[in-house]
Amino acid sequence: MLYKKFFESLVPSSLRSSFRESFRIIENSQKMAKIKDVDHPHIDFEKAVIYGKLKQIKYSKINNVDANIPRLTSVWCCRLKPQQTKAFVKFIRECITPYEPQTFTHIKRLKKIGTGKDFRLDGILCSSSLFTTKDQILELIHEYSDPEISEMTSDQINEVKIPSNIPTTREISLEWSEKFWPMSWRGDPNAQFLKEVKFDIVKEKQMIRKLLDVLETATEEIESKKPTLPVATIVVNPNNEEIVSTSFDCRLAHPLHHSVMLAIEQVAQNEKKSRLQKSAHSVEFDSGYLLNGLVVYTTHEPCVMCSMGLVHSRIKRVIYLQPMKSGGLETNYQLGDRDDLNWNFETWRWLEEEDLKKLHEIERKYKTFDQEVNV
Ligand SMILES: [Zn+2]
Repeated sequence: MLYKKFFESLVPSSLRSSFRESFRIIENSQKMAKIKDVDHPHIDFEKAVIYGKLKQIKYSKINNVDANIPRLTSVWCCRLKPQQTKAFVKFIRECITPYEPQTFTHIKRLKKIGTGKDFRLDGILCSSSLFTTKDQILELIHEYSDPEISEMTSDQINEVKIPSNIPTTREISLEWSEKFWPMSWRGDPNAQFLKEVKFDIVKEKQMIRKLLDVLETATEEIESKKPTLPVATIVVNPNNEEIVSTSFDCRLAHPLHHSVMLAIEQVAQNEKKSRLQKSAHSVEFDSGYLLNGLVVYTTHEPCVMCSMGLVHSRIKRVIYLQPMKSGGLETNYQLGDRDDLNWNFETWRWLEEEDLKKLHEIERKYKTFDQEVNV
């Protein structure tokens, strides 16, 4: 079937899009959020700190796009009689939602048109990027053959523009509802995110200790095998907590061999090996990106080069301990959280004093370490 191929080609972008939407952060979030939330005592919404140990790094105000200006996107919408809504909702659930590249949780699917007994509803069928012409969506509705909606004609379908970003306040939500399309206000988006993000803080602590342990062990190596700088990175698969890569800073051997770059390279090499093994058994190569879904733990805030490497490798989350003057995530550019880059990832800083103290102790063992150097 024509649509099947078409849909399959859309799945990766659909995942990307929903990821980006779910993690989109709004400038006013921390001001808006409730400071004390009895159901979430482990979250400091004002400081965006979880369990007092993990600080969310977010600076959307530096992004090029103002979150309070709607970014409009085109969607196909159809005029319905009230009795058609059940079939419409079923059609959307079965034929559209699994393939839809855009998320619509921030808007209402149906809009009431007119009053009294003869009112009608406008319903959003799908984004215009899913079906580029009216005929394509109409063909799918006809193929679906639910008698309630299969008689739909071309003049019942129109293209409209709706905001693709989530409003930051209830007031803006109401304003956009008046101007464009009814919005669904679920509260401050970053507060929602902080409530939904899942951390097992005991396991996070264990990972940080492992990171520091591997760094400390490396300092005990003989001089020729020592990392150049006391910087270590581990890459972890959060599904099984397996460490898929461990790396150290070796920039004296090669100027690009920062630990994060080496970690990315090591994961790439492992993936290449596993793909070659698969291809030997006539299994198709996996699609996807190198570090998709993986978590990076690193001792120092990655530099701009490493941060861009993380963007390109489509990492899920980065956790580091020491912010750096040359850093590309918190200190400069905020490269994990920019609307003008095609990938965003979560950035967190580990705050626990005893671990930072431990890191600084290890640093002191490296006489050559220079705090000013790019990490
Ligand atoms: Zn670097």
